[in-house]
Amino acid sequence: MENRAVVWNRIKANPECDVLIMGAGVNGTGLLRELALQGVRCILVDKGDYAAGASSKSSRMIHGGLRYLENAEFRLVSEAVHERNRLLKYAPHYVMPLRTLIPITSWFAGLIKSPLVFLGLPVTPGGRGALIVKMGLTFYDVITGRNRQTPRHYFMSKMLTELEVPGLKPEMICSANYWDAWISQPERLCVDMAREGCRINPKCAALNYVIAERADARHVRLRDMASNATLDIQPRIVINATGAWVDLANRVLGLTTRFMGGTKGSHLVINNQELYYALGDRMIYYEHEDGRICITFRFMDKIIMGSTDIRVANPDEAVCDEAEIDYMLTTLRGVFPKLKVSMHDIVHIFCGVRPLPFSGLDYTSRVPRAHQLQVTDADDQRTYSVYSLIGGKLTSFRAFGEQVADKVLRELSLERKESTRERTYYGAEEYPDSEDAKQLWIELVSQSSGVDSARVKTLLERYGTQAEQLAKIDEPTWRQPLETLPEYTVGEIRMIAEQEQVLHLSDLVRRRTLITILGEANMAVLTEIAAIAGEVLGWDEDKRRVEVDAALKEAAGRS
Ligand SMILES: Cc1cc2nc3c(=O)[nH]c(=O)nc-3n(C[C@H](O)[C@H](O)[C@H](O)COP(=O)(O)OP(=O)(O)OC[C@H]3O[C@@H](n4cnc5c(N)ncnc54)[C@H](O)[C@@H]3O)c2cc1C
Repeated sequence: MENRAVVWNRIKANPECDVLIMGAGVNGTGLLRELALQGVRCILVDKGDYAAGASSKSSRMIHGGLRYLENAEFRLVSEAVHERNRLLKYAPHYVMPLRTLIPITSWFAGLIKSPLVFLGLPVTPGGRGALIVKMGLTFYDVITGRNRQTPRHYFMSKMLTELEVPGLKPEMICSANYWDAWISQPERLCVDMAREGCRINPKCAALNYVIAERADARHVRLRDMASNATLDIQPRIVINATGAWVDLANRVLGLTTRFMGGTKGSHLVINNQELYYALGDRMIYYEHEDGRICITFRFMDKIIMGSTDIRVANPDEAVCDEAEIDYMLTTLRGVFPKLKVSMHDIVHIFCGVRPLPFSGLDYTSRVPRAHQLQVTDADDQRTYSVYSLIGGKLTSFRAFGEQVADKVLRELSLERKESTRERTYYGAEEYPDSEDAKQLWIELVSQSSGVDSARVKTLLERYGTQAEQLAKIDEPTWRQPLETLPEYTVGEIRMIAEQEQVLHLSDLVRRRTLITILGEANMAVLTEIAAIAGEVLGWDEDKRRVEVDAALKEAAGRS
């Protein structure tokens, strides 16, 4: 990626653009990639880091959303299943199949309630028995149809389920099993899409820590939060992809909207060996006694579990509170009653705000999850139109981006040049297509680079097939492990700091690597990484201390 100062000067030299995209989450970066391919000049900015919003705080499931069937969101589920399949195929370095098990405690529960929920009547969702789940999973299989990337669902008896996943609640009578997918690094996916967009269309630009702070009839003023410099740009269209912040960002543009009604969702990252082995390679998708669906699955060598769903007024103030932690641990004890999981096992907490549409519904789980686009046309007050992106899932960002891009192209009187439907993501070029091929790839790169195969495997998981080039870098620091965290090397940290628009230590440890989310961001690790990154970024001792404190606070789930 280009250096931040270089990008800023490039924008300054030519402040006119077709599209200004506000927000560099998965929707903003996905749109940049989509529009860049069509030759549209876009400038993408985020007031924080890439993926700093919901895109780094999700449950990391790439899924159709089985439970949305209950709300009759068939279009959403169908679109999301197809997008899941595309991500499995074109981003296999980040998106992998996930075996999912639903423990079931009744055959017929929900036969009355679910249709009422389905009809939009005001009843609390919950109590989903085997028959209702069977209907949902059959629909799931049908819509995947010919494009199948995952096996069909099946049911398992209580006895078999207990053998496969020991310790599940004794009331269970059977389990439903199906496949969805998970994403290891949505944060890097966002960075990669911004990088790819600017590479395929060098007229485009992407910058983090740049806020749109005010606007007049023709211009939007950007402020670089690092240098405090400002510049006025002249867009033809503004796309507001700020997720839960859409209404706040519209206010900057002089619009009064009430599109959003975000809910916060928290997750715990847990280090508990008993639970780790009980889960095996399965995600447990379970219903708590209040009807809320929770999930728990292995994430690398830890476990992610969540989440809550609580309305919030200001997305900037959303943090996980003690009551949420208690609630999540209680749900876990409900599904695995014999396992001892406690506060001491929590290694990281994160909380994000779902960019849901405003709704007066009583139950947050009933708020529609489908995405919508609201266009405010240009008029006497404003020479640019404003597109507000509302809702959407991590899973279906590409489809949403495609639909928005088609509207943009129409407004700009341009033809679509390329589709992203079958386009490989950065890092997935010539990715080995089976486990055997992967092993072979690792061995071959190991032989040609002289780097041991375990390290090549790690690089492949982190950077996709870019790993080949990285393994071959003939520079001593590239092979020098960190003293405090030997899974990373000094050269690797330097590369990220230099090439991926890192401004703060948190960018590096939370959104370019998995260090924080895996609970490894302790004082010693952060101090070592701050020293390496600080050398590249010119941080003095005071600045390093400030950066370490902020990263520690984030690691503890307090920001
Ligand atoms: C708890 C939780 C669990 C979820 N689980 C899943 C899941 O398992 N699977 C799934 O598919 N989806 C899931 N989602 C939904 C998914 O994460 C979001 O729908 C998706 O990430 C939204 O992306 P976005 O780009 O629209 O918004 P965000 O990722 O929130 O990005 C918005 C960006 O806008 C920036 N911004 C704000 N104001 C301004 C401004 N004035 N100027 C410039 N930039 C600004 C922010 O800094 C932020 O980076 C979950 C969400 C949450 C919160």
